[in-house]
Amino acid sequence: MRVLVTGGAGFIGSHLSETLLNQGHDVLCLDNFFTGSKDNIWHLMDNKRFELIRHDVTQPILLEVDQIYHFACPASPVHYQYNPVKTIKTNVMGTINMLGLAKRVRARVMQASTSEVYGDPKVHPQKEDYWGHVNPIGVRSCYDEGKRVAETLMMDYHRQNKVDIKIIRIFNTYGPRMALNDGRVVSNFIVQALKNEDITIYGDGSQTRSFQYIDDLIEATIRMMETDNFIGPVNIGNPNEFTILELAQKVIELTGSRSKIVHKPLPSDDPTQRQPDISLARKKLGWEPKVSLEAGLKRTIAYFEHVLSSKGSDVVKLV
Ligand code: NAD
Ligand code: UDP
Repeated sequence: MRVLVTGGAGFIGSHLSETLLNQGHDVLCLDNFFTGSKDNIWHLMDNKRFELIRHDVTQPILLEVDQIYHFACPASPVHYQYNPVKTIKTNVMGTINMLGLAKRVRARVMQASTSEVYGDPKVHPQKEDYWGHVNPIGVRSCYDEGKRVAETLMMDYHRQNKVDIKIIRIFNTYGPRMALNDGRVVSNFIVQALKNEDITIYGDGSQTRSFQYIDDLIEATIRMMETDNFIGPVNIGNPNEFTILELAQKVIELTGSRSKIVHKPLPSDDPTQRQPDISLARKKLGWEPKVSLEAGLKRTIAYFEHVLSSKGSDVVKLV
């Protein structure tokens, strides 16, 4: 099949592109390189079935494809809050453009949605039928509400135009190829620990997240795309929940770092708890995550050790 991956030079998109190529598909990787990097896809460039398109999803594009994985959008709070209006445009206009493309060429299209649609959840763990608790005017809403509108657009194109859609709600995912300056918690803590710099916990560290290793996400994502008669939304995440303080301690232990923990102010609207209920994914996709936090952190630490020691563009080949 000919498969379009938007955000294909990003953390998740590059793993997705690589796996799809390995499965024998033609991959069109589309990215505007806001947070993505050619380093992430350098090792795919000489594959004849791989094509790189520099393009911004807020602009329409004409392509002939069978499937679209729509992953283009900055995912780290630091980056999506850098230009919040652009983040909303990416989520709204980008999703309309991808749905228009899917409608025209009758492609199946998947939206990378997020646990952020649940906001600061009052129901725990979160199931797909929970409508969420999102501040519509806060600093995170360009992303949270942007993704909620994107889900609405997917459903309306499906009901109105019979577009073949899929919605996955991804929970915090980490792994190799996160950018050094990504700003999300796992990469921040690992980079700080490896440099023996202070580890910055925002707030008291009692807030929780459930961390999923990238390989588990990629497996579930492709399974979802290949499943008929199920459009989602479906939660994709690892239900093992940790406090941010526990994560910091685990990273210090696994790196043998001399770093000290310091506390910084908690950003506004930072969710206090987050854990996916993955019964639906278990039932519909026959999937559950396999990689423990410790195993995933070890692989990610090895990646960042290599990036920090070489800063070479060949790093991705080692993953
Ligand atoms: P990332 O920042 O590494 O990747 C995003 C990619 O999209 C980058 O390559 C960036 O350059 C590209 N991009 C951004 N705006 C674009 C635009 N207007 N046009 C074209 N390309 C654009 O982040 P990621 O973690 O790989 O996230 C990928 C997707 O998965 C995002 O849609 C994100 O919302 C979603 N997601 C990720 C997580 C997670 O924990 N990693 C959780 C929930 C949802
Ligand atoms: N966080 C932290 N230190 C950091 C980066 C993040 O304590 O250097 C906290 C952040 O406040 C949040 C959690 O870690 O409570 C997860 O943050 P991240 O940006 O990774 O993702 P989120 O789930 O908030 O979108």
